[in-house]
Amino acid sequence: MKIIEIRGFDLSFLLKEPLGNALTFFRKREALLVQVVTDAGVSGWGEAGNSPHAAGTFIRTRLAGLVLGKSPADFGRHYQAMTSVLGYDRRGAGMMAISALDMALHDLAARMYGISVASLLGGAVRDRLFAYASGPFFRERTDPYREFEREADGYLKRNFRAIKPRGGFSPRADGVMARQLRRLAGPEVALMVDINQGYTARAAIQSAQHMEDAELLWIEEPVQPEDIPGYQTVARAVPVAIAGGEALGNARAFRDFLAAGTFSVLQPDLAVCGGYSGFREIAALARAYDLPVMPHVFGTTVNFHASMQMAAVIEPRRGGGPAPYPFMEYDAMANPLLDLCPPPALDSNGLLAVPEGPGTGLDLAPERLAPWTVGHWTEKL
Ligand SMILES: [Mg+2]
Repeated sequence: MKIIEIRGFDLSFLLKEPLGNALTFFRKREALLVQVVTDAGVSGWGEAGNSPHAAGTFIRTRLAGLVLGKSPADFGRHYQAMTSVLGYDRRGAGMMAISALDMALHDLAARMYGISVASLLGGAVRDRLFAYASGPFFRERTDPYREFEREADGYLKRNFRAIKPRGGFSPRADGVMARQLRRLAGPEVALMVDINQGYTARAAIQSAQHMEDAELLWIEEPVQPEDIPGYQTVARAVPVAIAGGEALGNARAFRDFLAAGTFSVLQPDLAVCGGYSGFREIAALARAYDLPVMPHVFGTTVNFHASMQMAAVIEPRRGGGPAPYPFMEYDAMANPLLDLCPPPALDSNGLLAVPEGPGTGLDLAPERLAPWTVGHWTEKL
């Protein structure tokens, strides 16, 4: 079986109302999906995070020739070949391009063998994942947290037992918001707050102090993603776990953060850090530091399904919450690209069944993408 075609789909949708975090407001969301197709008609899906157009160009100009004509079974060799042409683009769009192809190659190889990606990676250690609602998000004008209680109540009704609201508007407002949600959710539900790089180290410490009574499980991305000294300052000053890493593009970046004692929870994104291959390098590093690792995922159904397979094989670690890690991030924003193939409903314990495959278990016909496709390209053998 050999790879004969790579198809790129540039997707986008407009939000009904702008939703935001401490960094930005979303009016439109974009994604690049790639479908890698073989001469036997079997295909696999991958997704690039954050810089879809640049990643697409990188695939077409630098990577496609390394993969076309080759066997999907050799995904490890292809990963080495792809990372060897990165040049100076070590942690950016080039890695996102590799991420998309690595995800698609694993999906494809697993489908070729008739097994799940989790089986290809050595075998699932769980068939259900503890999911958390990633939301609510800021509203524009006046109080950005004004809809948080109503929305969090909706998540609880959908059986979520963990919620990660966006914070970072002001330390005092963060404290009021977090205490409100704790009162609403009760003592057993995990609450985490994502600052989305929004604060200086000092403001992040103040915010953590204001939120202390809410007994958060973690505070995420309190400062800029490259700010190792800032992370160190925050991590040393507050008792709550500090999570991060979604913007870090490879294991070397994580190594620098871990050596500096910054993170208590690692959150690489498969669509940013080099797909399953890159994630596994980071997971090995996390194991050496005895730190929990779990996928960050905030994109389409392709990354979501891939992340479920990845999370299914991660060794469990107790981090103090209602279930052992890893948790599965579940974008709570209205997202038609996630609903293309919606994840199964949560059971009464907040658990999500992991699809058994083949591949990621995703059944996605390319025609389904049509309403959101703003660009399409094909590279052929
Ligand atoms: Mg985040």
